[in-house]
Amino acid sequence: MRKLPIWLSSILVLVCAMLMMSASNPPSGKPSYLDGSYVGKAEGHGGELSVDVVVKGGKIKSIAVHSIDTEGISDVAVKKLPEAMIKAQSVEVDSISGATMTSDAIKGAVSDALKGATLYPVSKTVATDVVVIGAGNAGLAAAVEASTKGAKVIILEKMAFIGGNSIRSGGAFNAVDPDRQGKQKIEDSIDKHFQQTFEGGDKKADPELVHTLVNGAPEALKWLEGMGMKFNDDVFTVLGALWPRSHAPIDPLGTGFVKTLKAADDKNKVQTLVDMKVNQIIRENGKVTGVVAVDAAGARIRYNAKMGVVLATGGFSANKEMRQKYNPKLTPNLGTTNHPGATGDGIIMAQNIGADLVGMEYIQLLPLGDPASGALDGWIGMNVEDYIFVNKDGKRFVSEAERRDVMTQALIQQRDQFMYVICDAHSMPTPQTKNSFNQTAESLVKSGKDFSADTIEALAQKIGIDPAALKATVDRYNEGIDSKNDEVGKKLLGNKLDKAPFYASGRVPTVHHTMGGVRINTKAQVIDVNGAVIPGLYAAGEVTGGIHGSNRLGGNALADTIVFGRIAGQNVVSTKK
Ligand code: ADP
Repeated sequence: MRKLPIWLSSILVLVCAMLMMSASNPPSGKPSYLDGSYVGKAEGHGGELSVDVVVKGGKIKSIAVHSIDTEGISDVAVKKLPEAMIKAQSVEVDSISGATMTSDAIKGAVSDALKGATLYPVSKTVATDVVVIGAGNAGLAAAVEASTKGAKVIILEKMAFIGGNSIRSGGAFNAVDPDRQGKQKIEDSIDKHFQQTFEGGDKKADPELVHTLVNGAPEALKWLEGMGMKFNDDVFTVLGALWPRSHAPIDPLGTGFVKTLKAADDKNKVQTLVDMKVNQIIRENGKVTGVVAVDAAGARIRYNAKMGVVLATGGFSANKEMRQKYNPKLTPNLGTTNHPGATGDGIIMAQNIGADLVGMEYIQLLPLGDPASGALDGWIGMNVEDYIFVNKDGKRFVSEAERRDVMTQALIQQRDQFMYVICDAHSMPTPQTKNSFNQTAESLVKSGKDFSADTIEALAQKIGIDPAALKATVDRYNEGIDSKNDEVGKKLLGNKLDKAPFYASGRVPTVHHTMGGVRINTKAQVIDVNGAVIPGLYAAGEVTGGIHGSNRLGGNALADTIVFGRIAGQNVVSTKK
């Protein structure tokens, strides 16, 4: 590689540092406030203290303090502080001496009330019909629908590339499909998809949303196919899908979805801006009217959306603090399969303007993480029916066709929380066969990530398991296929593990999906903490909650993004505001 002259390297480092600093700087300038009535809370001296703040014409007009602690000296703070704040048009005023705790509580509650209503100066304002936040499947699909209805749409994406988690997913898309399933003699129905989704999530989901998902999935599949997306002729069972109704795209991973949707967006002249991080949803007089985004150079731009905003920012699997906040029981420091941008921004922004959250504690782990990175790559199984899991003693410990949460909990009980997926040439017929992550069997074995051998005993030796123990496990599995009586109760049984070469891939628990998020209704409208619709705000995809309950079926996430992305895109244009 040619080296840069020292002076040029130094200038580059300086420019990069300046860019990074400006991008992460807090907003500057005097803030104004968005008109509306706001409620805020904070812990006071004698319990919770709440405030009602009214903003009119961009100014704080009134602050009413509801305190259970208004005797004596606190009275002074309750009276004087709001006056001082209104005069200064700021929360940053001097506390009342002798009533510091009450003063702090009032300031905290007013800050809480104004956290979504404080608008710092922007360098420019852009007007459009619809703003979509996030360029994963849900956002791209919403943009296709809204632009097809004639709306001028801008998608704002914080990363330097589009696709989010959608593009790096395995690509499995669940939908009842009488054509394909009929040919494979698989019996299925919308009702069965509903039951498995609802019960597979411990009935914690909103049944209306589940109905919308399972009813919309077959049509969403046809919609994608109508735009040119190609899927395999056969359906399969992706891990945790519970039933063979998963459709595998021909293009690797989730690239087929993103390619298809982006092409449709481009055709409809949707503008997609990358390196554009939205950090505020603007809600004025109760209605969402736009967003504020920060570009790569740190400039703050306001996007006004005449028709409304679609929130499609994905989940928070890559945000360790947020994971622990909502589910303190979760093993800390687990890896994740997610892209680094899955940090829950959309959930926080929506909460700041009053959105209700649902199911935030439901965080999905998968038993299939790469031991080094937590990512899914390197995993060699495909059909649930055609692989087994063994622990370091070469023993099976759970049905491989179980729910994802059940399988991961069982893995957590095993020595070193570690297992091998064992499959054979039924999954990987040639060394050039690719896994769902577009990697060949040959390259995976060469890289040392996976192992292969012509006999089970030789494979066992390579992975440090007692050969006799692993052979006995595989023999019992194969016998169980004949007798339809599997030793760990697996019901979806396929090929025997008897076709060399045999493969092994080491796997650990990893964080995969956050089932919780903003509450929506079946029109993809966001619901506030009082149960009312937030006018002008729609949400779709992993940023939403209430669709999968406590455990999401494998293959249901991509269906969710397309079904609800479409609904959000249609309704942001046509729903009466
Ligand atoms: P879904 O499957 O729900 O569509 P994805 O993870 O595929 O979710 O896509 C969400 C997209 O939203 C990602 O590309 C992510 O980078 C983007 N995103 C997340 N937060 C922001 C933000 N604050 N501003 C703009 N884009 C964001």
